[in-house]
Amino acid sequence: MDAEEIIRLEQRYVLGTYKRAPFVLERGEGAYLYDTRGRRYLDMVAGIAVNALGYGDAEILRAMTEQARRLMHVSNLYHTAPHALLARDLVECSFADRVFFCNSGTEANEAALKFARKWQRVNHPEQDRGEIIAFTGSFHGRTMGALSVTHREKYRAPFEPLLPGVRFLPYNDAEAARSSIGPRTGAVIVEPLQGEGGVNPATQEFMQALRTCCDEQGALLIFDEVQCGLGRTGTLWAYEAFGVTPDLMTLAKPLGGGLPLGATLLTERVASAIVPGDHGSTFAANPVICEVARVVLRRITAPGFLEDVRRRSARLEQRLRELQRRHRLVREVRGRGLIWGMELAVDAAPLAAAAYDHGLIVTSAGERVLRLVPPLVVSEEQIDEAAAIIDRLLTEAERAEV
Ligand SMILES: *Cc1c(COP(=O)(O)O)cnc(C)c1O
Repeated sequence: MDAEEIIRLEQRYVLGTYKRAPFVLERGEGAYLYDTRGRRYLDMVAGIAVNALGYGDAEILRAMTEQARRLMHVSNLYHTAPHALLARDLVECSFADRVFFCNSGTEANEAALKFARKWQRVNHPEQDRGEIIAFTGSFHGRTMGALSVTHREKYRAPFEPLLPGVRFLPYNDAEAARSSIGPRTGAVIVEPLQGEGGVNPATQEFMQALRTCCDEQGALLIFDEVQCGLGRTGTLWAYEAFGVTPDLMTLAKPLGGGLPLGATLLTERVASAIVPGDHGSTFAANPVICEVARVVLRRITAPGFLEDVRRRSARLEQRLRELQRRHRLVREVRGRGLIWGMELAVDAAPLAAAAYDHGLIVTSAGERVLRLVPPLVVSEEQIDEAAAIIDRLLTEAERAEV
């Protein structure tokens, strides 16, 4: 079946919630994707920060096929070794004492909001602690609870009414946080580095203020590291850069090595409020996904891996700053590790679309930010290759403008 036919079927039968790129992908290898016409693309999206180890990783494939032959799904009514081992692995390398597994980022945030609610109900039964504080530019997911703490009007407005009691404060405004987090605040949810909102790193002062205010006011602090966690920012967890830890943290995108897996990590203090039946998931963290996730975690925490990410990060930052100096369309370059945004003077989507013809896959974040989230195993040569293509795209865009 040729590409036109597949695209026609898709457009005829699949609900139109996505505007997909005009080609059909068939296979991947490392940081490259290939379409049905045999065209190669350098992938600076990585399935939206999911494919940290790139495509076709031998160890992932081995873990997956071996476990699939043994046992694939039994539900969460029964014990399996991979599930317990993955939870232990996550606890041993993080602030957390306990793990709840689910299937996606939005579900991890739903769980975090529910656990925070329950903790407040158990610990402050007489108080109204219904307020949840979130921030401008935030993205936490598409289901009703996570959507309620997602800032973008376009995503929210058609689905109102959402959860009551949500307040949005300006991101990175420590003063606003100090004057607003109060005795009615049950939880504060924040991305240590905003992804979909345009690649915005938090400041040290802001993150510190959130921790201090939550402690003083008895609110729980939730870090959403669905996109920025697991090595993406150059440290295993993005929060490590700030020297503060959360009460709960959510993970997803890269955790399952391309299979759907989310997790909500908690301290024992928060976990003590949760009892059997409070929350659950039929599919979450089957033995196959857990074995793959253990490979992902082991590889990212292996000696030298994060040093390599930081070296590639320096190269990518250098290349993007060169582009900023050469092109008037580039307003700002910001990021950490291997998550970078180029804020443009024009919409980013047409530029991302034009990149396909040059064999490059990039995406936007918000309207005017071109986002680069390559596999963490991208090479320095591939970074140079991507920068050279973006250089040509910007030159073309500038020529078209005058
Ligand atoms: C992508 C994302 C989510 C939602 O994850 P899904 O798996 O698409 O539900 C939540 N939070 C952040 C920070 C994200 O980047």
